[in-house]
Amino acid sequence: MSELPKTYTSADLAEGGKVFRELDPPARLAIFGDPVAHSASPPMQNAALKAQGRDLQYVRIHVTPQALPEALAALPEAGFLGTNLTIPHKQAALELVDDLSREARLMGAINTVTVRDGKLHGYNTDGPGFAAAIQEEFGMALGSLRVLILGGAGGAGRAITVQCALAGCPKIIVANRNSAKGETLAAEIKGQLERNVTAISMDPSEVRTAVAASDLIVNATPLGMKAQDTSPLPEGSESALSKDHLVYDTVYSGGNTALLRQAQEAGAKSASGLSMLLHQGALAYKIWFGEPAPLETMRKALRS
Ligand code: NAP
Repeated sequence: MSELPKTYTSADLAEGGKVFRELDPPARLAIFGDPVAHSASPPMQNAALKAQGRDLQYVRIHVTPQALPEALAALPEAGFLGTNLTIPHKQAALELVDDLSREARLMGAINTVTVRDGKLHGYNTDGPGFAAAIQEEFGMALGSLRVLILGGAGGAGRAITVQCALAGCPKIIVANRNSAKGETLAAEIKGQLERNVTAISMDPSEVRTAVAASDLIVNATPLGMKAQDTSPLPEGSESALSKDHLVYDTVYSGGNTALLRQAQEAGAKSASGLSMLLHQGALAYKIWFGEPAPLETMRKALRS
């Protein structure tokens, strides 16, 4: 079995981050999560830092929900430039930073924090990272597509749905298991961005009609993370898939998911969530350093 990479804990942020300052190179960027041990961000970000000759490293820090306020507050004194946030911190952190970008406020989640003048600034690069991934994978601007988002009112789903609204997609359909959550999100987007979003349930016939009325189908549910998972398309609705569809699965477990297999069988163009992971990371890097990230270096690190 391969050895898991080193994971620090929030207790290591004590004493002005002494533990991190004493590393060679010092750790000044991190990802906070619970769990966090399997995050793919450290190898990707460390490859970028090394390629650009920056004398610092990016580490995993296991932070429980209870420890999040203190861990974020400790970042300036510990000499950190910022951090990424993953499960389950993206929503809770909204209340814990000094200010928020417009996207993060609309998306209701933060995945990137930067420290400037001792203050914490929150951003969301999942939505813009998704838009960049669609452009790269399919050669199409997100704003030109009619989009169906499965699990569109979940964490990643909400960022994607808001991004679609910001991009001006001509049609946005959110299919959510808990359909009331989808309706609430649609009402919020209508109120704040004056864009129409249709909320539907996961009923097979409703989803089938929505598939037929969309160009791009996105999976933002966790279905596909485990090898034995079924497709997020409820049984029967997959028959509406055709060769004209684009299918994007945000799952990035590496293998072919049931949804990607259905897309391939229908002759549709499809892609996994690895490109979204890459672009959200590259956009976070740009926020921290004010310069474009070395994308190809990061892509190579992710693939290996
Ligand atoms: P989350 O906040 O827990 O949201 C999960 C969503 O999926 C909710 O809408 C939930 O519906 C729905 N859902 C969960 N189980 C379901 C099931 N069995 N059948 C139908 N719907 C189900 O999770 P998240 O953090 O957004 O993560 C969702 C996915 O996005 C994961 O696969 C994750 O890997 C992926 N992701 C990818 C990237 C990337 O960079 N590629 C970044 C972030 C996340 P309810 O609202 O009804 O519970």
